[in-house]
Amino acid sequence: MGTINKIRKIAKQKVAKEIYEVYVENGMHTAIDYAEEYNSKHISQIPFEWCEPCDNNMPSIDHECCICGSETIKPSKPKFYQAVLKPIKDVITHVYPQGGITLEERMGNNAQCPECGKNEWLLLAQEQVAVREGGKPYCECLNCGMVTHL
Ligand SMILES: [Zn+2]
Ligand SMILES: [Zn+2]
Repeated sequence: MGTINKIRKIAKQKVAKEIYEVYVENGMHTAIDYAEEYNSKHISQIPFEWCEPCDNNMPSIDHECCICGSETIKPSKPKFYQAVLKPIKDVITHVYPQGGITLEERMGNNAQCPECGKNEWLLLAQEQVAVREGGKPYCECLNCGMVTHL
């Protein structure tokens, strides 16, 4: 399968304009259907790429959403990471160099998990969503997956 990105500019622009016009007249879903219909009949395919403002995979020509004109996310190969468990001696010094309340102090009971009673915790990486959204270090119970902050 080829991609429409490789065809002549004027021909691409025509298709992008058609999709946009369908959108203006009939809305986003019909425009997506239109692009899918186009793909079923052509060798040069309109790529569907993730558009943030549309919050959807959208027909996108030259990485530009045909509906809202925003730059779409270029497809990339998935990446995989494996976390390696490495014991941390003093987790509070590790995450709060200025010092802070330990998990044992906050939760009592040798930092036993309130859900399952075990007390082995995995410090989540900075990049993980709980940490990003929570805005502080988080750890997860290795046994049951309960997440709590530090
Ligand atoms: Zn869009
Ligand atoms: Zn647990």
